[in-house]
Amino acid sequence: MKRIIVAIDGYSSCGKSTLAKALAKTLHYAYLDSGAMYRAVTLYFLDNQLDYNDPEVVEEVLQHIEIHFERIDGQNRTFLNGVDIERAIREMRVSEHVSPVSTISTVRRAMVRQQQAMGKRRGIVADGRDIGTVVFPDAELKIFLVADPEVRTSRRHLELAAKGIDADWHEVQRNLLERDHIDSTRADSPLRQADDAVIIDNTLLSEEQQLEKALALAKERIPAA
Ligand code: C5P
Repeated sequence: MKRIIVAIDGYSSCGKSTLAKALAKTLHYAYLDSGAMYRAVTLYFLDNQLDYNDPEVVEEVLQHIEIHFERIDGQNRTFLNGVDIERAIREMRVSEHVSPVSTISTVRRAMVRQQQAMGKRRGIVADGRDIGTVVFPDAELKIFLVADPEVRTSRRHLELAAKGIDADWHEVQRNLLERDHIDSTRADSPLRQADDAVIIDNTLLSEEQQLEKALALAKERIPAA
């Protein structure tokens, strides 16, 4: 069967990764968490106390980072220079800086190049902010996920707690709204719905219900031969 590309974009904590992972698993496709890559770059700046506002430093950093994903015990793990950083990149200190780092065009170019290489053979579900508009503009299925901000905050808060990260609910909400603002107003590849994207509002949907909707859309687009 021919394999397609599924692009899932939307605001922070809309449930993009939950849907993307479930869809990838059902279709036996690869899953690409593009946000994890921007988080990994951000972590490198923070841990090495480097200034991401200095273009020369940014150029240098991009020469020294290698990001890849591995599946370990059924979980997707992000690696930076050979070290598993899956937990560290979810911390609030990374969430605080990731959107400013993601406005930097040289960073975006390097990430997009790697993401496009990962989708070369299709059969991939990718989530992020610019997947349907910039990374895979020819994706057969583009979904733009939306959900109520209160619901998004509670979901992110729960997700952090499940990872053992204790964060204040209002801090989480402030961070989400701030990232939404920076992500949708930046000059390079702002978050926006692609013209040919299908909107799914999952505020009142269970994980199963949103998967069902997305799966039906994918099946309509997977050619029979
Ligand atoms: O998806 P996640 O919330 O982990 O993404 C973290 C941040 O990375 C986003 O707020 C955004 O600033 C950036 N990002 C991006 N482009 C993507 C994915 C994420 O700019 N494709």
